[in-house]
Amino acid sequence: MSSIQKKVTKPAFSALLKPLDIGFVQLKNRIIMGSMHTGLEEQWFSLRKLAMFYEERARAGVALIVSGGISPTFSGRLSPFSSQFSTWFQVAKHRRLVEAVHAHDAKICLQILHAGRYAYHPFAVAPSAIKSPISPYTPRALTGRQIRKIIEAFANTARLAKRAGYDGVEVMGSEGYLINQFICSNTNKRTDEWGGSFDNRIRFSLEIIRAIRRSVGERFIIIFRLSMLDLHKEGSSWHEIEQHAKEIEKAGANLINTGIGWHEVRIPTIAAVVPEAAFSWVTKKLKQAVDIPLITSNRINTPELAERCLLEGDADLVSMARPFLADSRFVQKTMENQTQLINTCIACNQGCLDRVFKHKRATCMVNPRACYEGAYPLTQSGSRKTVIVIGLGVAGLSCAYYAASRGHQVIAYDAANPGGQFNLASEIPGKEVYRETVRYFEAQLSLLGVQVHRNFEVGFEDLRDIFADAIVFATGVVPRMPDIEGIDHFSVMDYASAIINKADIKDKVAIIGAGGIGFDVAEMLVAKQQEDWYQSWGIDKQYANRGGLLTEQVKQQLNQHGKRDVYLLQRKNEKPGKNLARTTGWIRRLTLRRAGVTMMTGVRYEKIDDFGLHVVHNGESKTLAIDHVIICAGQESENTLYRQLHDIGQPVHIIGGAKKAAELDAETAIREGMILAYSF
Ligand code: NAP
Repeated sequence: MSSIQKKVTKPAFSALLKPLDIGFVQLKNRIIMGSMHTGLEEQWFSLRKLAMFYEERARAGVALIVSGGISPTFSGRLSPFSSQFSTWFQVAKHRRLVEAVHAHDAKICLQILHAGRYAYHPFAVAPSAIKSPISPYTPRALTGRQIRKIIEAFANTARLAKRAGYDGVEVMGSEGYLINQFICSNTNKRTDEWGGSFDNRIRFSLEIIRAIRRSVGERFIIIFRLSMLDLHKEGSSWHEIEQHAKEIEKAGANLINTGIGWHEVRIPTIAAVVPEAAFSWVTKKLKQAVDIPLITSNRINTPELAERCLLEGDADLVSMARPFLADSRFVQKTMENQTQLINTCIACNQGCLDRVFKHKRATCMVNPRACYEGAYPLTQSGSRKTVIVIGLGVAGLSCAYYAASRGHQVIAYDAANPGGQFNLASEIPGKEVYRETVRYFEAQLSLLGVQVHRNFEVGFEDLRDIFADAIVFATGVVPRMPDIEGIDHFSVMDYASAIINKADIKDKVAIIGAGGIGFDVAEMLVAKQQEDWYQSWGIDKQYANRGGLLTEQVKQQLNQHGKRDVYLLQRKNEKPGKNLARTTGWIRRLTLRRAGVTMMTGVRYEKIDDFGLHVVHNGESKTLAIDHVIICAGQESENTLYRQLHDIGQPVHIIGGAKKAAELDAETAIREGMILAYSF
């Protein structure tokens, strides 16, 4: 036997790909696609599009899918038109969804979610009539009889789920929804058997589990999503969480999933600024308290991280939600050890949560096919065409990738290295993960045999007589330089130069423009080196206090301003960063405020000279004595060559920032690249 044959290679991701026996059922690996609302759950007559979305992930090897949250009652719906599953005539449409998943040997659980006071409608109910800070509606306090009816409604939905073929249910007991509202004393002021002592406050969750178990029998998975870290000061103590978990196990749950934070709490739990696998320590802390398997979650976006969580004994299973939007074949690529081909979730929330909050269908910034699987099938184009792509920012990368994957011959050019604005974004603290999108597209282009010419400035002469079926211009943008006296002063630089030369920037800086890039640059300037992320957000890993929070005193000591004086300026008299995304804008404003950044709105720029930046603010002339003025005043399209070739009749197309710089965002750019590629 040769030495090569003798060598036993340890399979990659052996912990992650190992099956898990939970008694009556075996999960084929340790990867769960966590619950996420897509907006496809609300279809009245058919869940066909949702089935296509799930099926593509099931086919690629995921062990278990947990559906988006579905209410057991009308009052529990997140909004008046949100999904509810409570009658037998809905069973058929769910059955078709379940069959699509089962066809590929994957399991599926229905998440039952009662929104409680988070319900965005006037019929909201809660343990007590206390309004949530993130809803305009004051809930009605439930009577004892109504509480019993909701428990029965949970059991009824589980029974219907079983009839539809689901393998189990997940009971949503975290993130500040109804069950969590019963558990914590800030939202539960009842004096009857459902309030007061901790034993009384957890009665609701335990009665729900018992009622479900009675209605579905033993061979049906019950997952309980337990809030293990409430992150508010009247949250559960660690002792209470352990007690609750033990009772949940006794009541008949098969698995406990990790829930972190309440939606109303201003501490980030899933945004890109949250460190990788930031909360798996919480799951690990619970491991000694219970015997049933635990699932960990939050900011786990690669097989390497998931494997590490398992190897370090943090949990028995890993749940990932957004990573399955970013890449439907996450598990298959993991099994094939092709992780460089995984489209990594960059936790931007722009395609998913930000859209869902606007009542739009979710998708994914880095994978615009997500939730549109039917519209953009994985099929080859009928005829092979020659496509030239000029500019490999994310719009160009996306177009080149989708065109090549549909069978076209693609030749691509970039004046520098692929990545465009994403290369700049990845230099911003907390956005380093943006590099992964560029890595993904580059790996795909290489696999598909796309000819990529780097550092190649294409000119008119190169393209004038060339034959191609399509020439795609994705030449991007250049920073806009506003017309201000002294704009040529040596202290002025555009944002691209500032990001590239960040090490040379001195301590007093004015930023002109408070849009997405102005915020990025300000964050880059005030980022503290080696700061403990948990402490900076007031999270106590020792869990000494309720909710896992540091005391106010310690927090104040930590919130000391950085050494830089940064001014973030805009002309409009409106909240700075008003158009930042809903789920992340507040984090960014809070970060800058805590770092002592001065935000000025309604500013008029007068001139820049050796004394600094002269402005008029609130009718008063001021001179900001600064070392640098960084211009973040939007962009202008780079499309001269496109127009020249268009005029001589070449088959040109234009996408991304080159087409429209104003309010261009990466989500639009990547989607435009894909849509154009599907038209060839
Ligand atoms: P932007 O968001 O449109 O902001 C441009 C800023 O420049 C505004 O604050 C504007 O405010 C100011 N401005 C515009 N014209 C000006 C002029 N002639 N003189 C002085 N100030 C001027 O553009 P961006 O910051 O360049 O971002 C580009 C795109 O990328 C946007 O769609 C943005 O949302 C997106 N992006 C998003 C993120 C994110 O984290 N979500 C990060 C970066 C970029 P006034 O007109 O009031 O002065």
